[in-house]
Amino acid sequence: MKKPPQLEYLEQTLRSSRLSARGFLGTDQRSLWEILDADASEVEKLGYTMTGIATRMHEITDRANEGLGDWVEIGKNIKACTTDVRGVIACPWPHAFRANKTVTTVLKIDSGDEIKWADLNIHLIEEHGFFQGKGSVFRLEPSELVKIIF
Ligand SMILES: [Zn+2]
Repeated sequence: MKKPPQLEYLEQTLRSSRLSARGFLGTDQRSLWEILDADASEVEKLGYTMTGIATRMHEITDRANEGLGDWVEIGKNIKACTTDVRGVIACPWPHAFRANKTVTTVLKIDSGDEIKWADLNIHLIEEHGFFQGKGSVFRLEPSELVKIIF
């Protein structure tokens, strides 16, 4: 992965951000670059791509939205529902992108595993390969995520 310019400045923004409870980096002591690099390796090792993961997340959220808050069956082994939270949140990267604050809850029926993401998570993975820092409220572990959604 090519290291994007101004990464240090962006890291400061993410660490101090008041947009999300403890910032986007949570309690993670690693640099933003180390976090991005480690998750990119993890995703590759798991045999997936950022685009493939984000596409599946979009698909699940879109289907779940049709349930207007009720559980929707997605395939045989997954159900999902969305909670509409009012308002939008801006992507912390320096470009004009805002996501609805909708939260999707996904349940794998056979294992009982559950995972939640906000619309912004999908954008962060798709465009920036960013799963957030450990300890962040919306940190998604790539291995847990792929186990549940695929
Ligand atoms: Zn963005």
